[in-house]
Amino acid sequence: MTTEKTILKCKNPHCEKDFHVIPQEADLYKRKNLPSPDFCPECRHRQRMALRNERKLYGRPCGKCQKQMLSTYPETAPYTVYCQECFWANIG
Ligand SMILES: [Zn+2]
Ligand SMILES: [Zn+2]
Repeated sequence: MTTEKTILKCKNPHCEKDFHVIPQEADLYKRKNLPSPDFCPECRHRQRMALRNERKLYGRPCGKCQKQMLSTYPETAPYTVYCQECFWANIG
């Protein structure tokens, strides 16, 4: 068990901030054979957020009027998708 803090440099060229890896964390990486993190917690957080916002859109016909539109669900998803118009018409 390492007791010293590991200091790493963020590999994001726009950041290059030094960040600490606490012993428990460093130990976990070692035990799970994971490489040490390349990016500071801030950059890692930002990357996660960016990934979450990156939504894939699929071209699907509206379940009601058959108009082609974009949906976040692929054709294989067990959902009927509606275009904006039909969606709101359905709610009312
Ligand atoms: Zn960073
Ligand atoms: Zn429609």
